[in-house]
Amino acid sequence: MTKGLIFDIQRFCVNDGPGIRTTVFFKGCGLRCAWCHNPESIASYRQLSYDPTRCDGCRKCFDHVDGVGISMVDEKAEVDMNIHDQNLSLVSVCPQRCFTILGEEKSIDEIISVILKDLDYYQESGGGVTFSGGEALNQWSFIEPLAKKLKEHNLHLTLDISGYDPGGLLPKTFDLMDLYLLDIKAAKSEVYQKYIRQTLDPTVMLELLKSANKPVILRVPLIEDINDDSDLFDMLAKLVNAYDNIIETNLLPYHKLRKNQQFKLLNDREFFTVADHSRKEQWKNEVRLRQIRNVTMENELIFKKR
Ligand code: SF4
Ligand code: SF4
Repeated sequence: MTKGLIFDIQRFCVNDGPGIRTTVFFKGCGLRCAWCHNPESIASYRQLSYDPTRCDGCRKCFDHVDGVGISMVDEKAEVDMNIHDQNLSLVSVCPQRCFTILGEEKSIDEIISVILKDLDYYQESGGGVTFSGGEALNQWSFIEPLAKKLKEHNLHLTLDISGYDPGGLLPKTFDLMDLYLLDIKAAKSEVYQKYIRQTLDPTVMLELLKSANKPVILRVPLIEDINDDSDLFDMLAKLVNAYDNIIETNLLPYHKLRKNQQFKLLNDREFFTVADHSRKEQWKNEVRLRQIRNVTMENELIFKKR
C-alpha cells in the first residue's frame, strides 16, 4: 500500500499515550459503535459529509443531481446520504461549502514531514506518535513501513486498537509498537449485540499482548445506563488483576460531538445522555470499591494501587 487513507493528523495530543504526541487517524473500522466519537472514521473510503447549517437554499446541488436524492425543504437542501455518500462532485457545486470530503490519501513522506516538525517536543516530553482510527490495524501494510522510518528517529510508537482483529494482524505489530491502547466497550453480550453488533472478548488481545510483553492502557467509554453496569467494573477489576501488563485504565465519559462534527453522514449516530457530576462520582466509587489500580477519568487518578 503506497498511500494511507487518513482522516486527520493531530499534533500536540496529550491523551493518546505518554508525553506530547502526534496522532494519525486512519479511516476504516469494522465495528459500528453507536456512541462512536469519530463517526467520520468508520467508512473505509473518501466520503461526503453535509452540513445543512450552512445552506442558503440556492438549489445548485438540487439542479446538479436533477433532484435525485436531494429535496428542497423550507429553502434548505435535504440530502439523502444513502444516495450521495460517495458523490464527491457535490463539493464543487455548492457555493456555501456545505459539502466536505472526509478522508485523504497520504504518502509516508507526507505524514513523516508533519510528524517530524515536533521532534523536539517528543524528545523533551517522552512523547511520540500514536496510530489511531477507525481501526488503524486495517491499514497495517501502510503503517509498517511508516513505523520503520519513524523508528530511525527513535520515536515511541503507540497503536490504538478496538479489540476487533478478524485478520489476526496484531502479532505483526509487535516488533515496532511500544505501547497499545485497547478499547473495552462493555461487559454484557446484549450491550455488544445492541450497540456494536459484534461481541468481543478483550482477553484474546490481552493474552497476545501479555505474551509479547507489551504494555497496555485500557480505554473504556462510559455511557450512562448503557454500559456502566456493575458487570463492567467487575470485569475491569478482573482484567487488571489478571494482566500485569495493563499499566493504566482510562475511563472516558461519553460527551457531545465537537461542533465541527455536527455534519450528516451515511452512518448517522445515536446520541446518548451526557453523565452529570453525580454519575461520574458513582463511577469513581465503583473503581475505589474494587480497588482497581491506576484508573483515570478526565485526567484525575481515581485509584493508584491495590
Ligand atoms: S448548493 Fe449548497 S447552499 Fe445551495 S442548496 Fe445545495 S447545499 Fe444548499
Ligand atoms: S471501534 Fe472506535 S472507531 Fe470503530 S466504530 Fe467503535 S468507537 Fe468508532
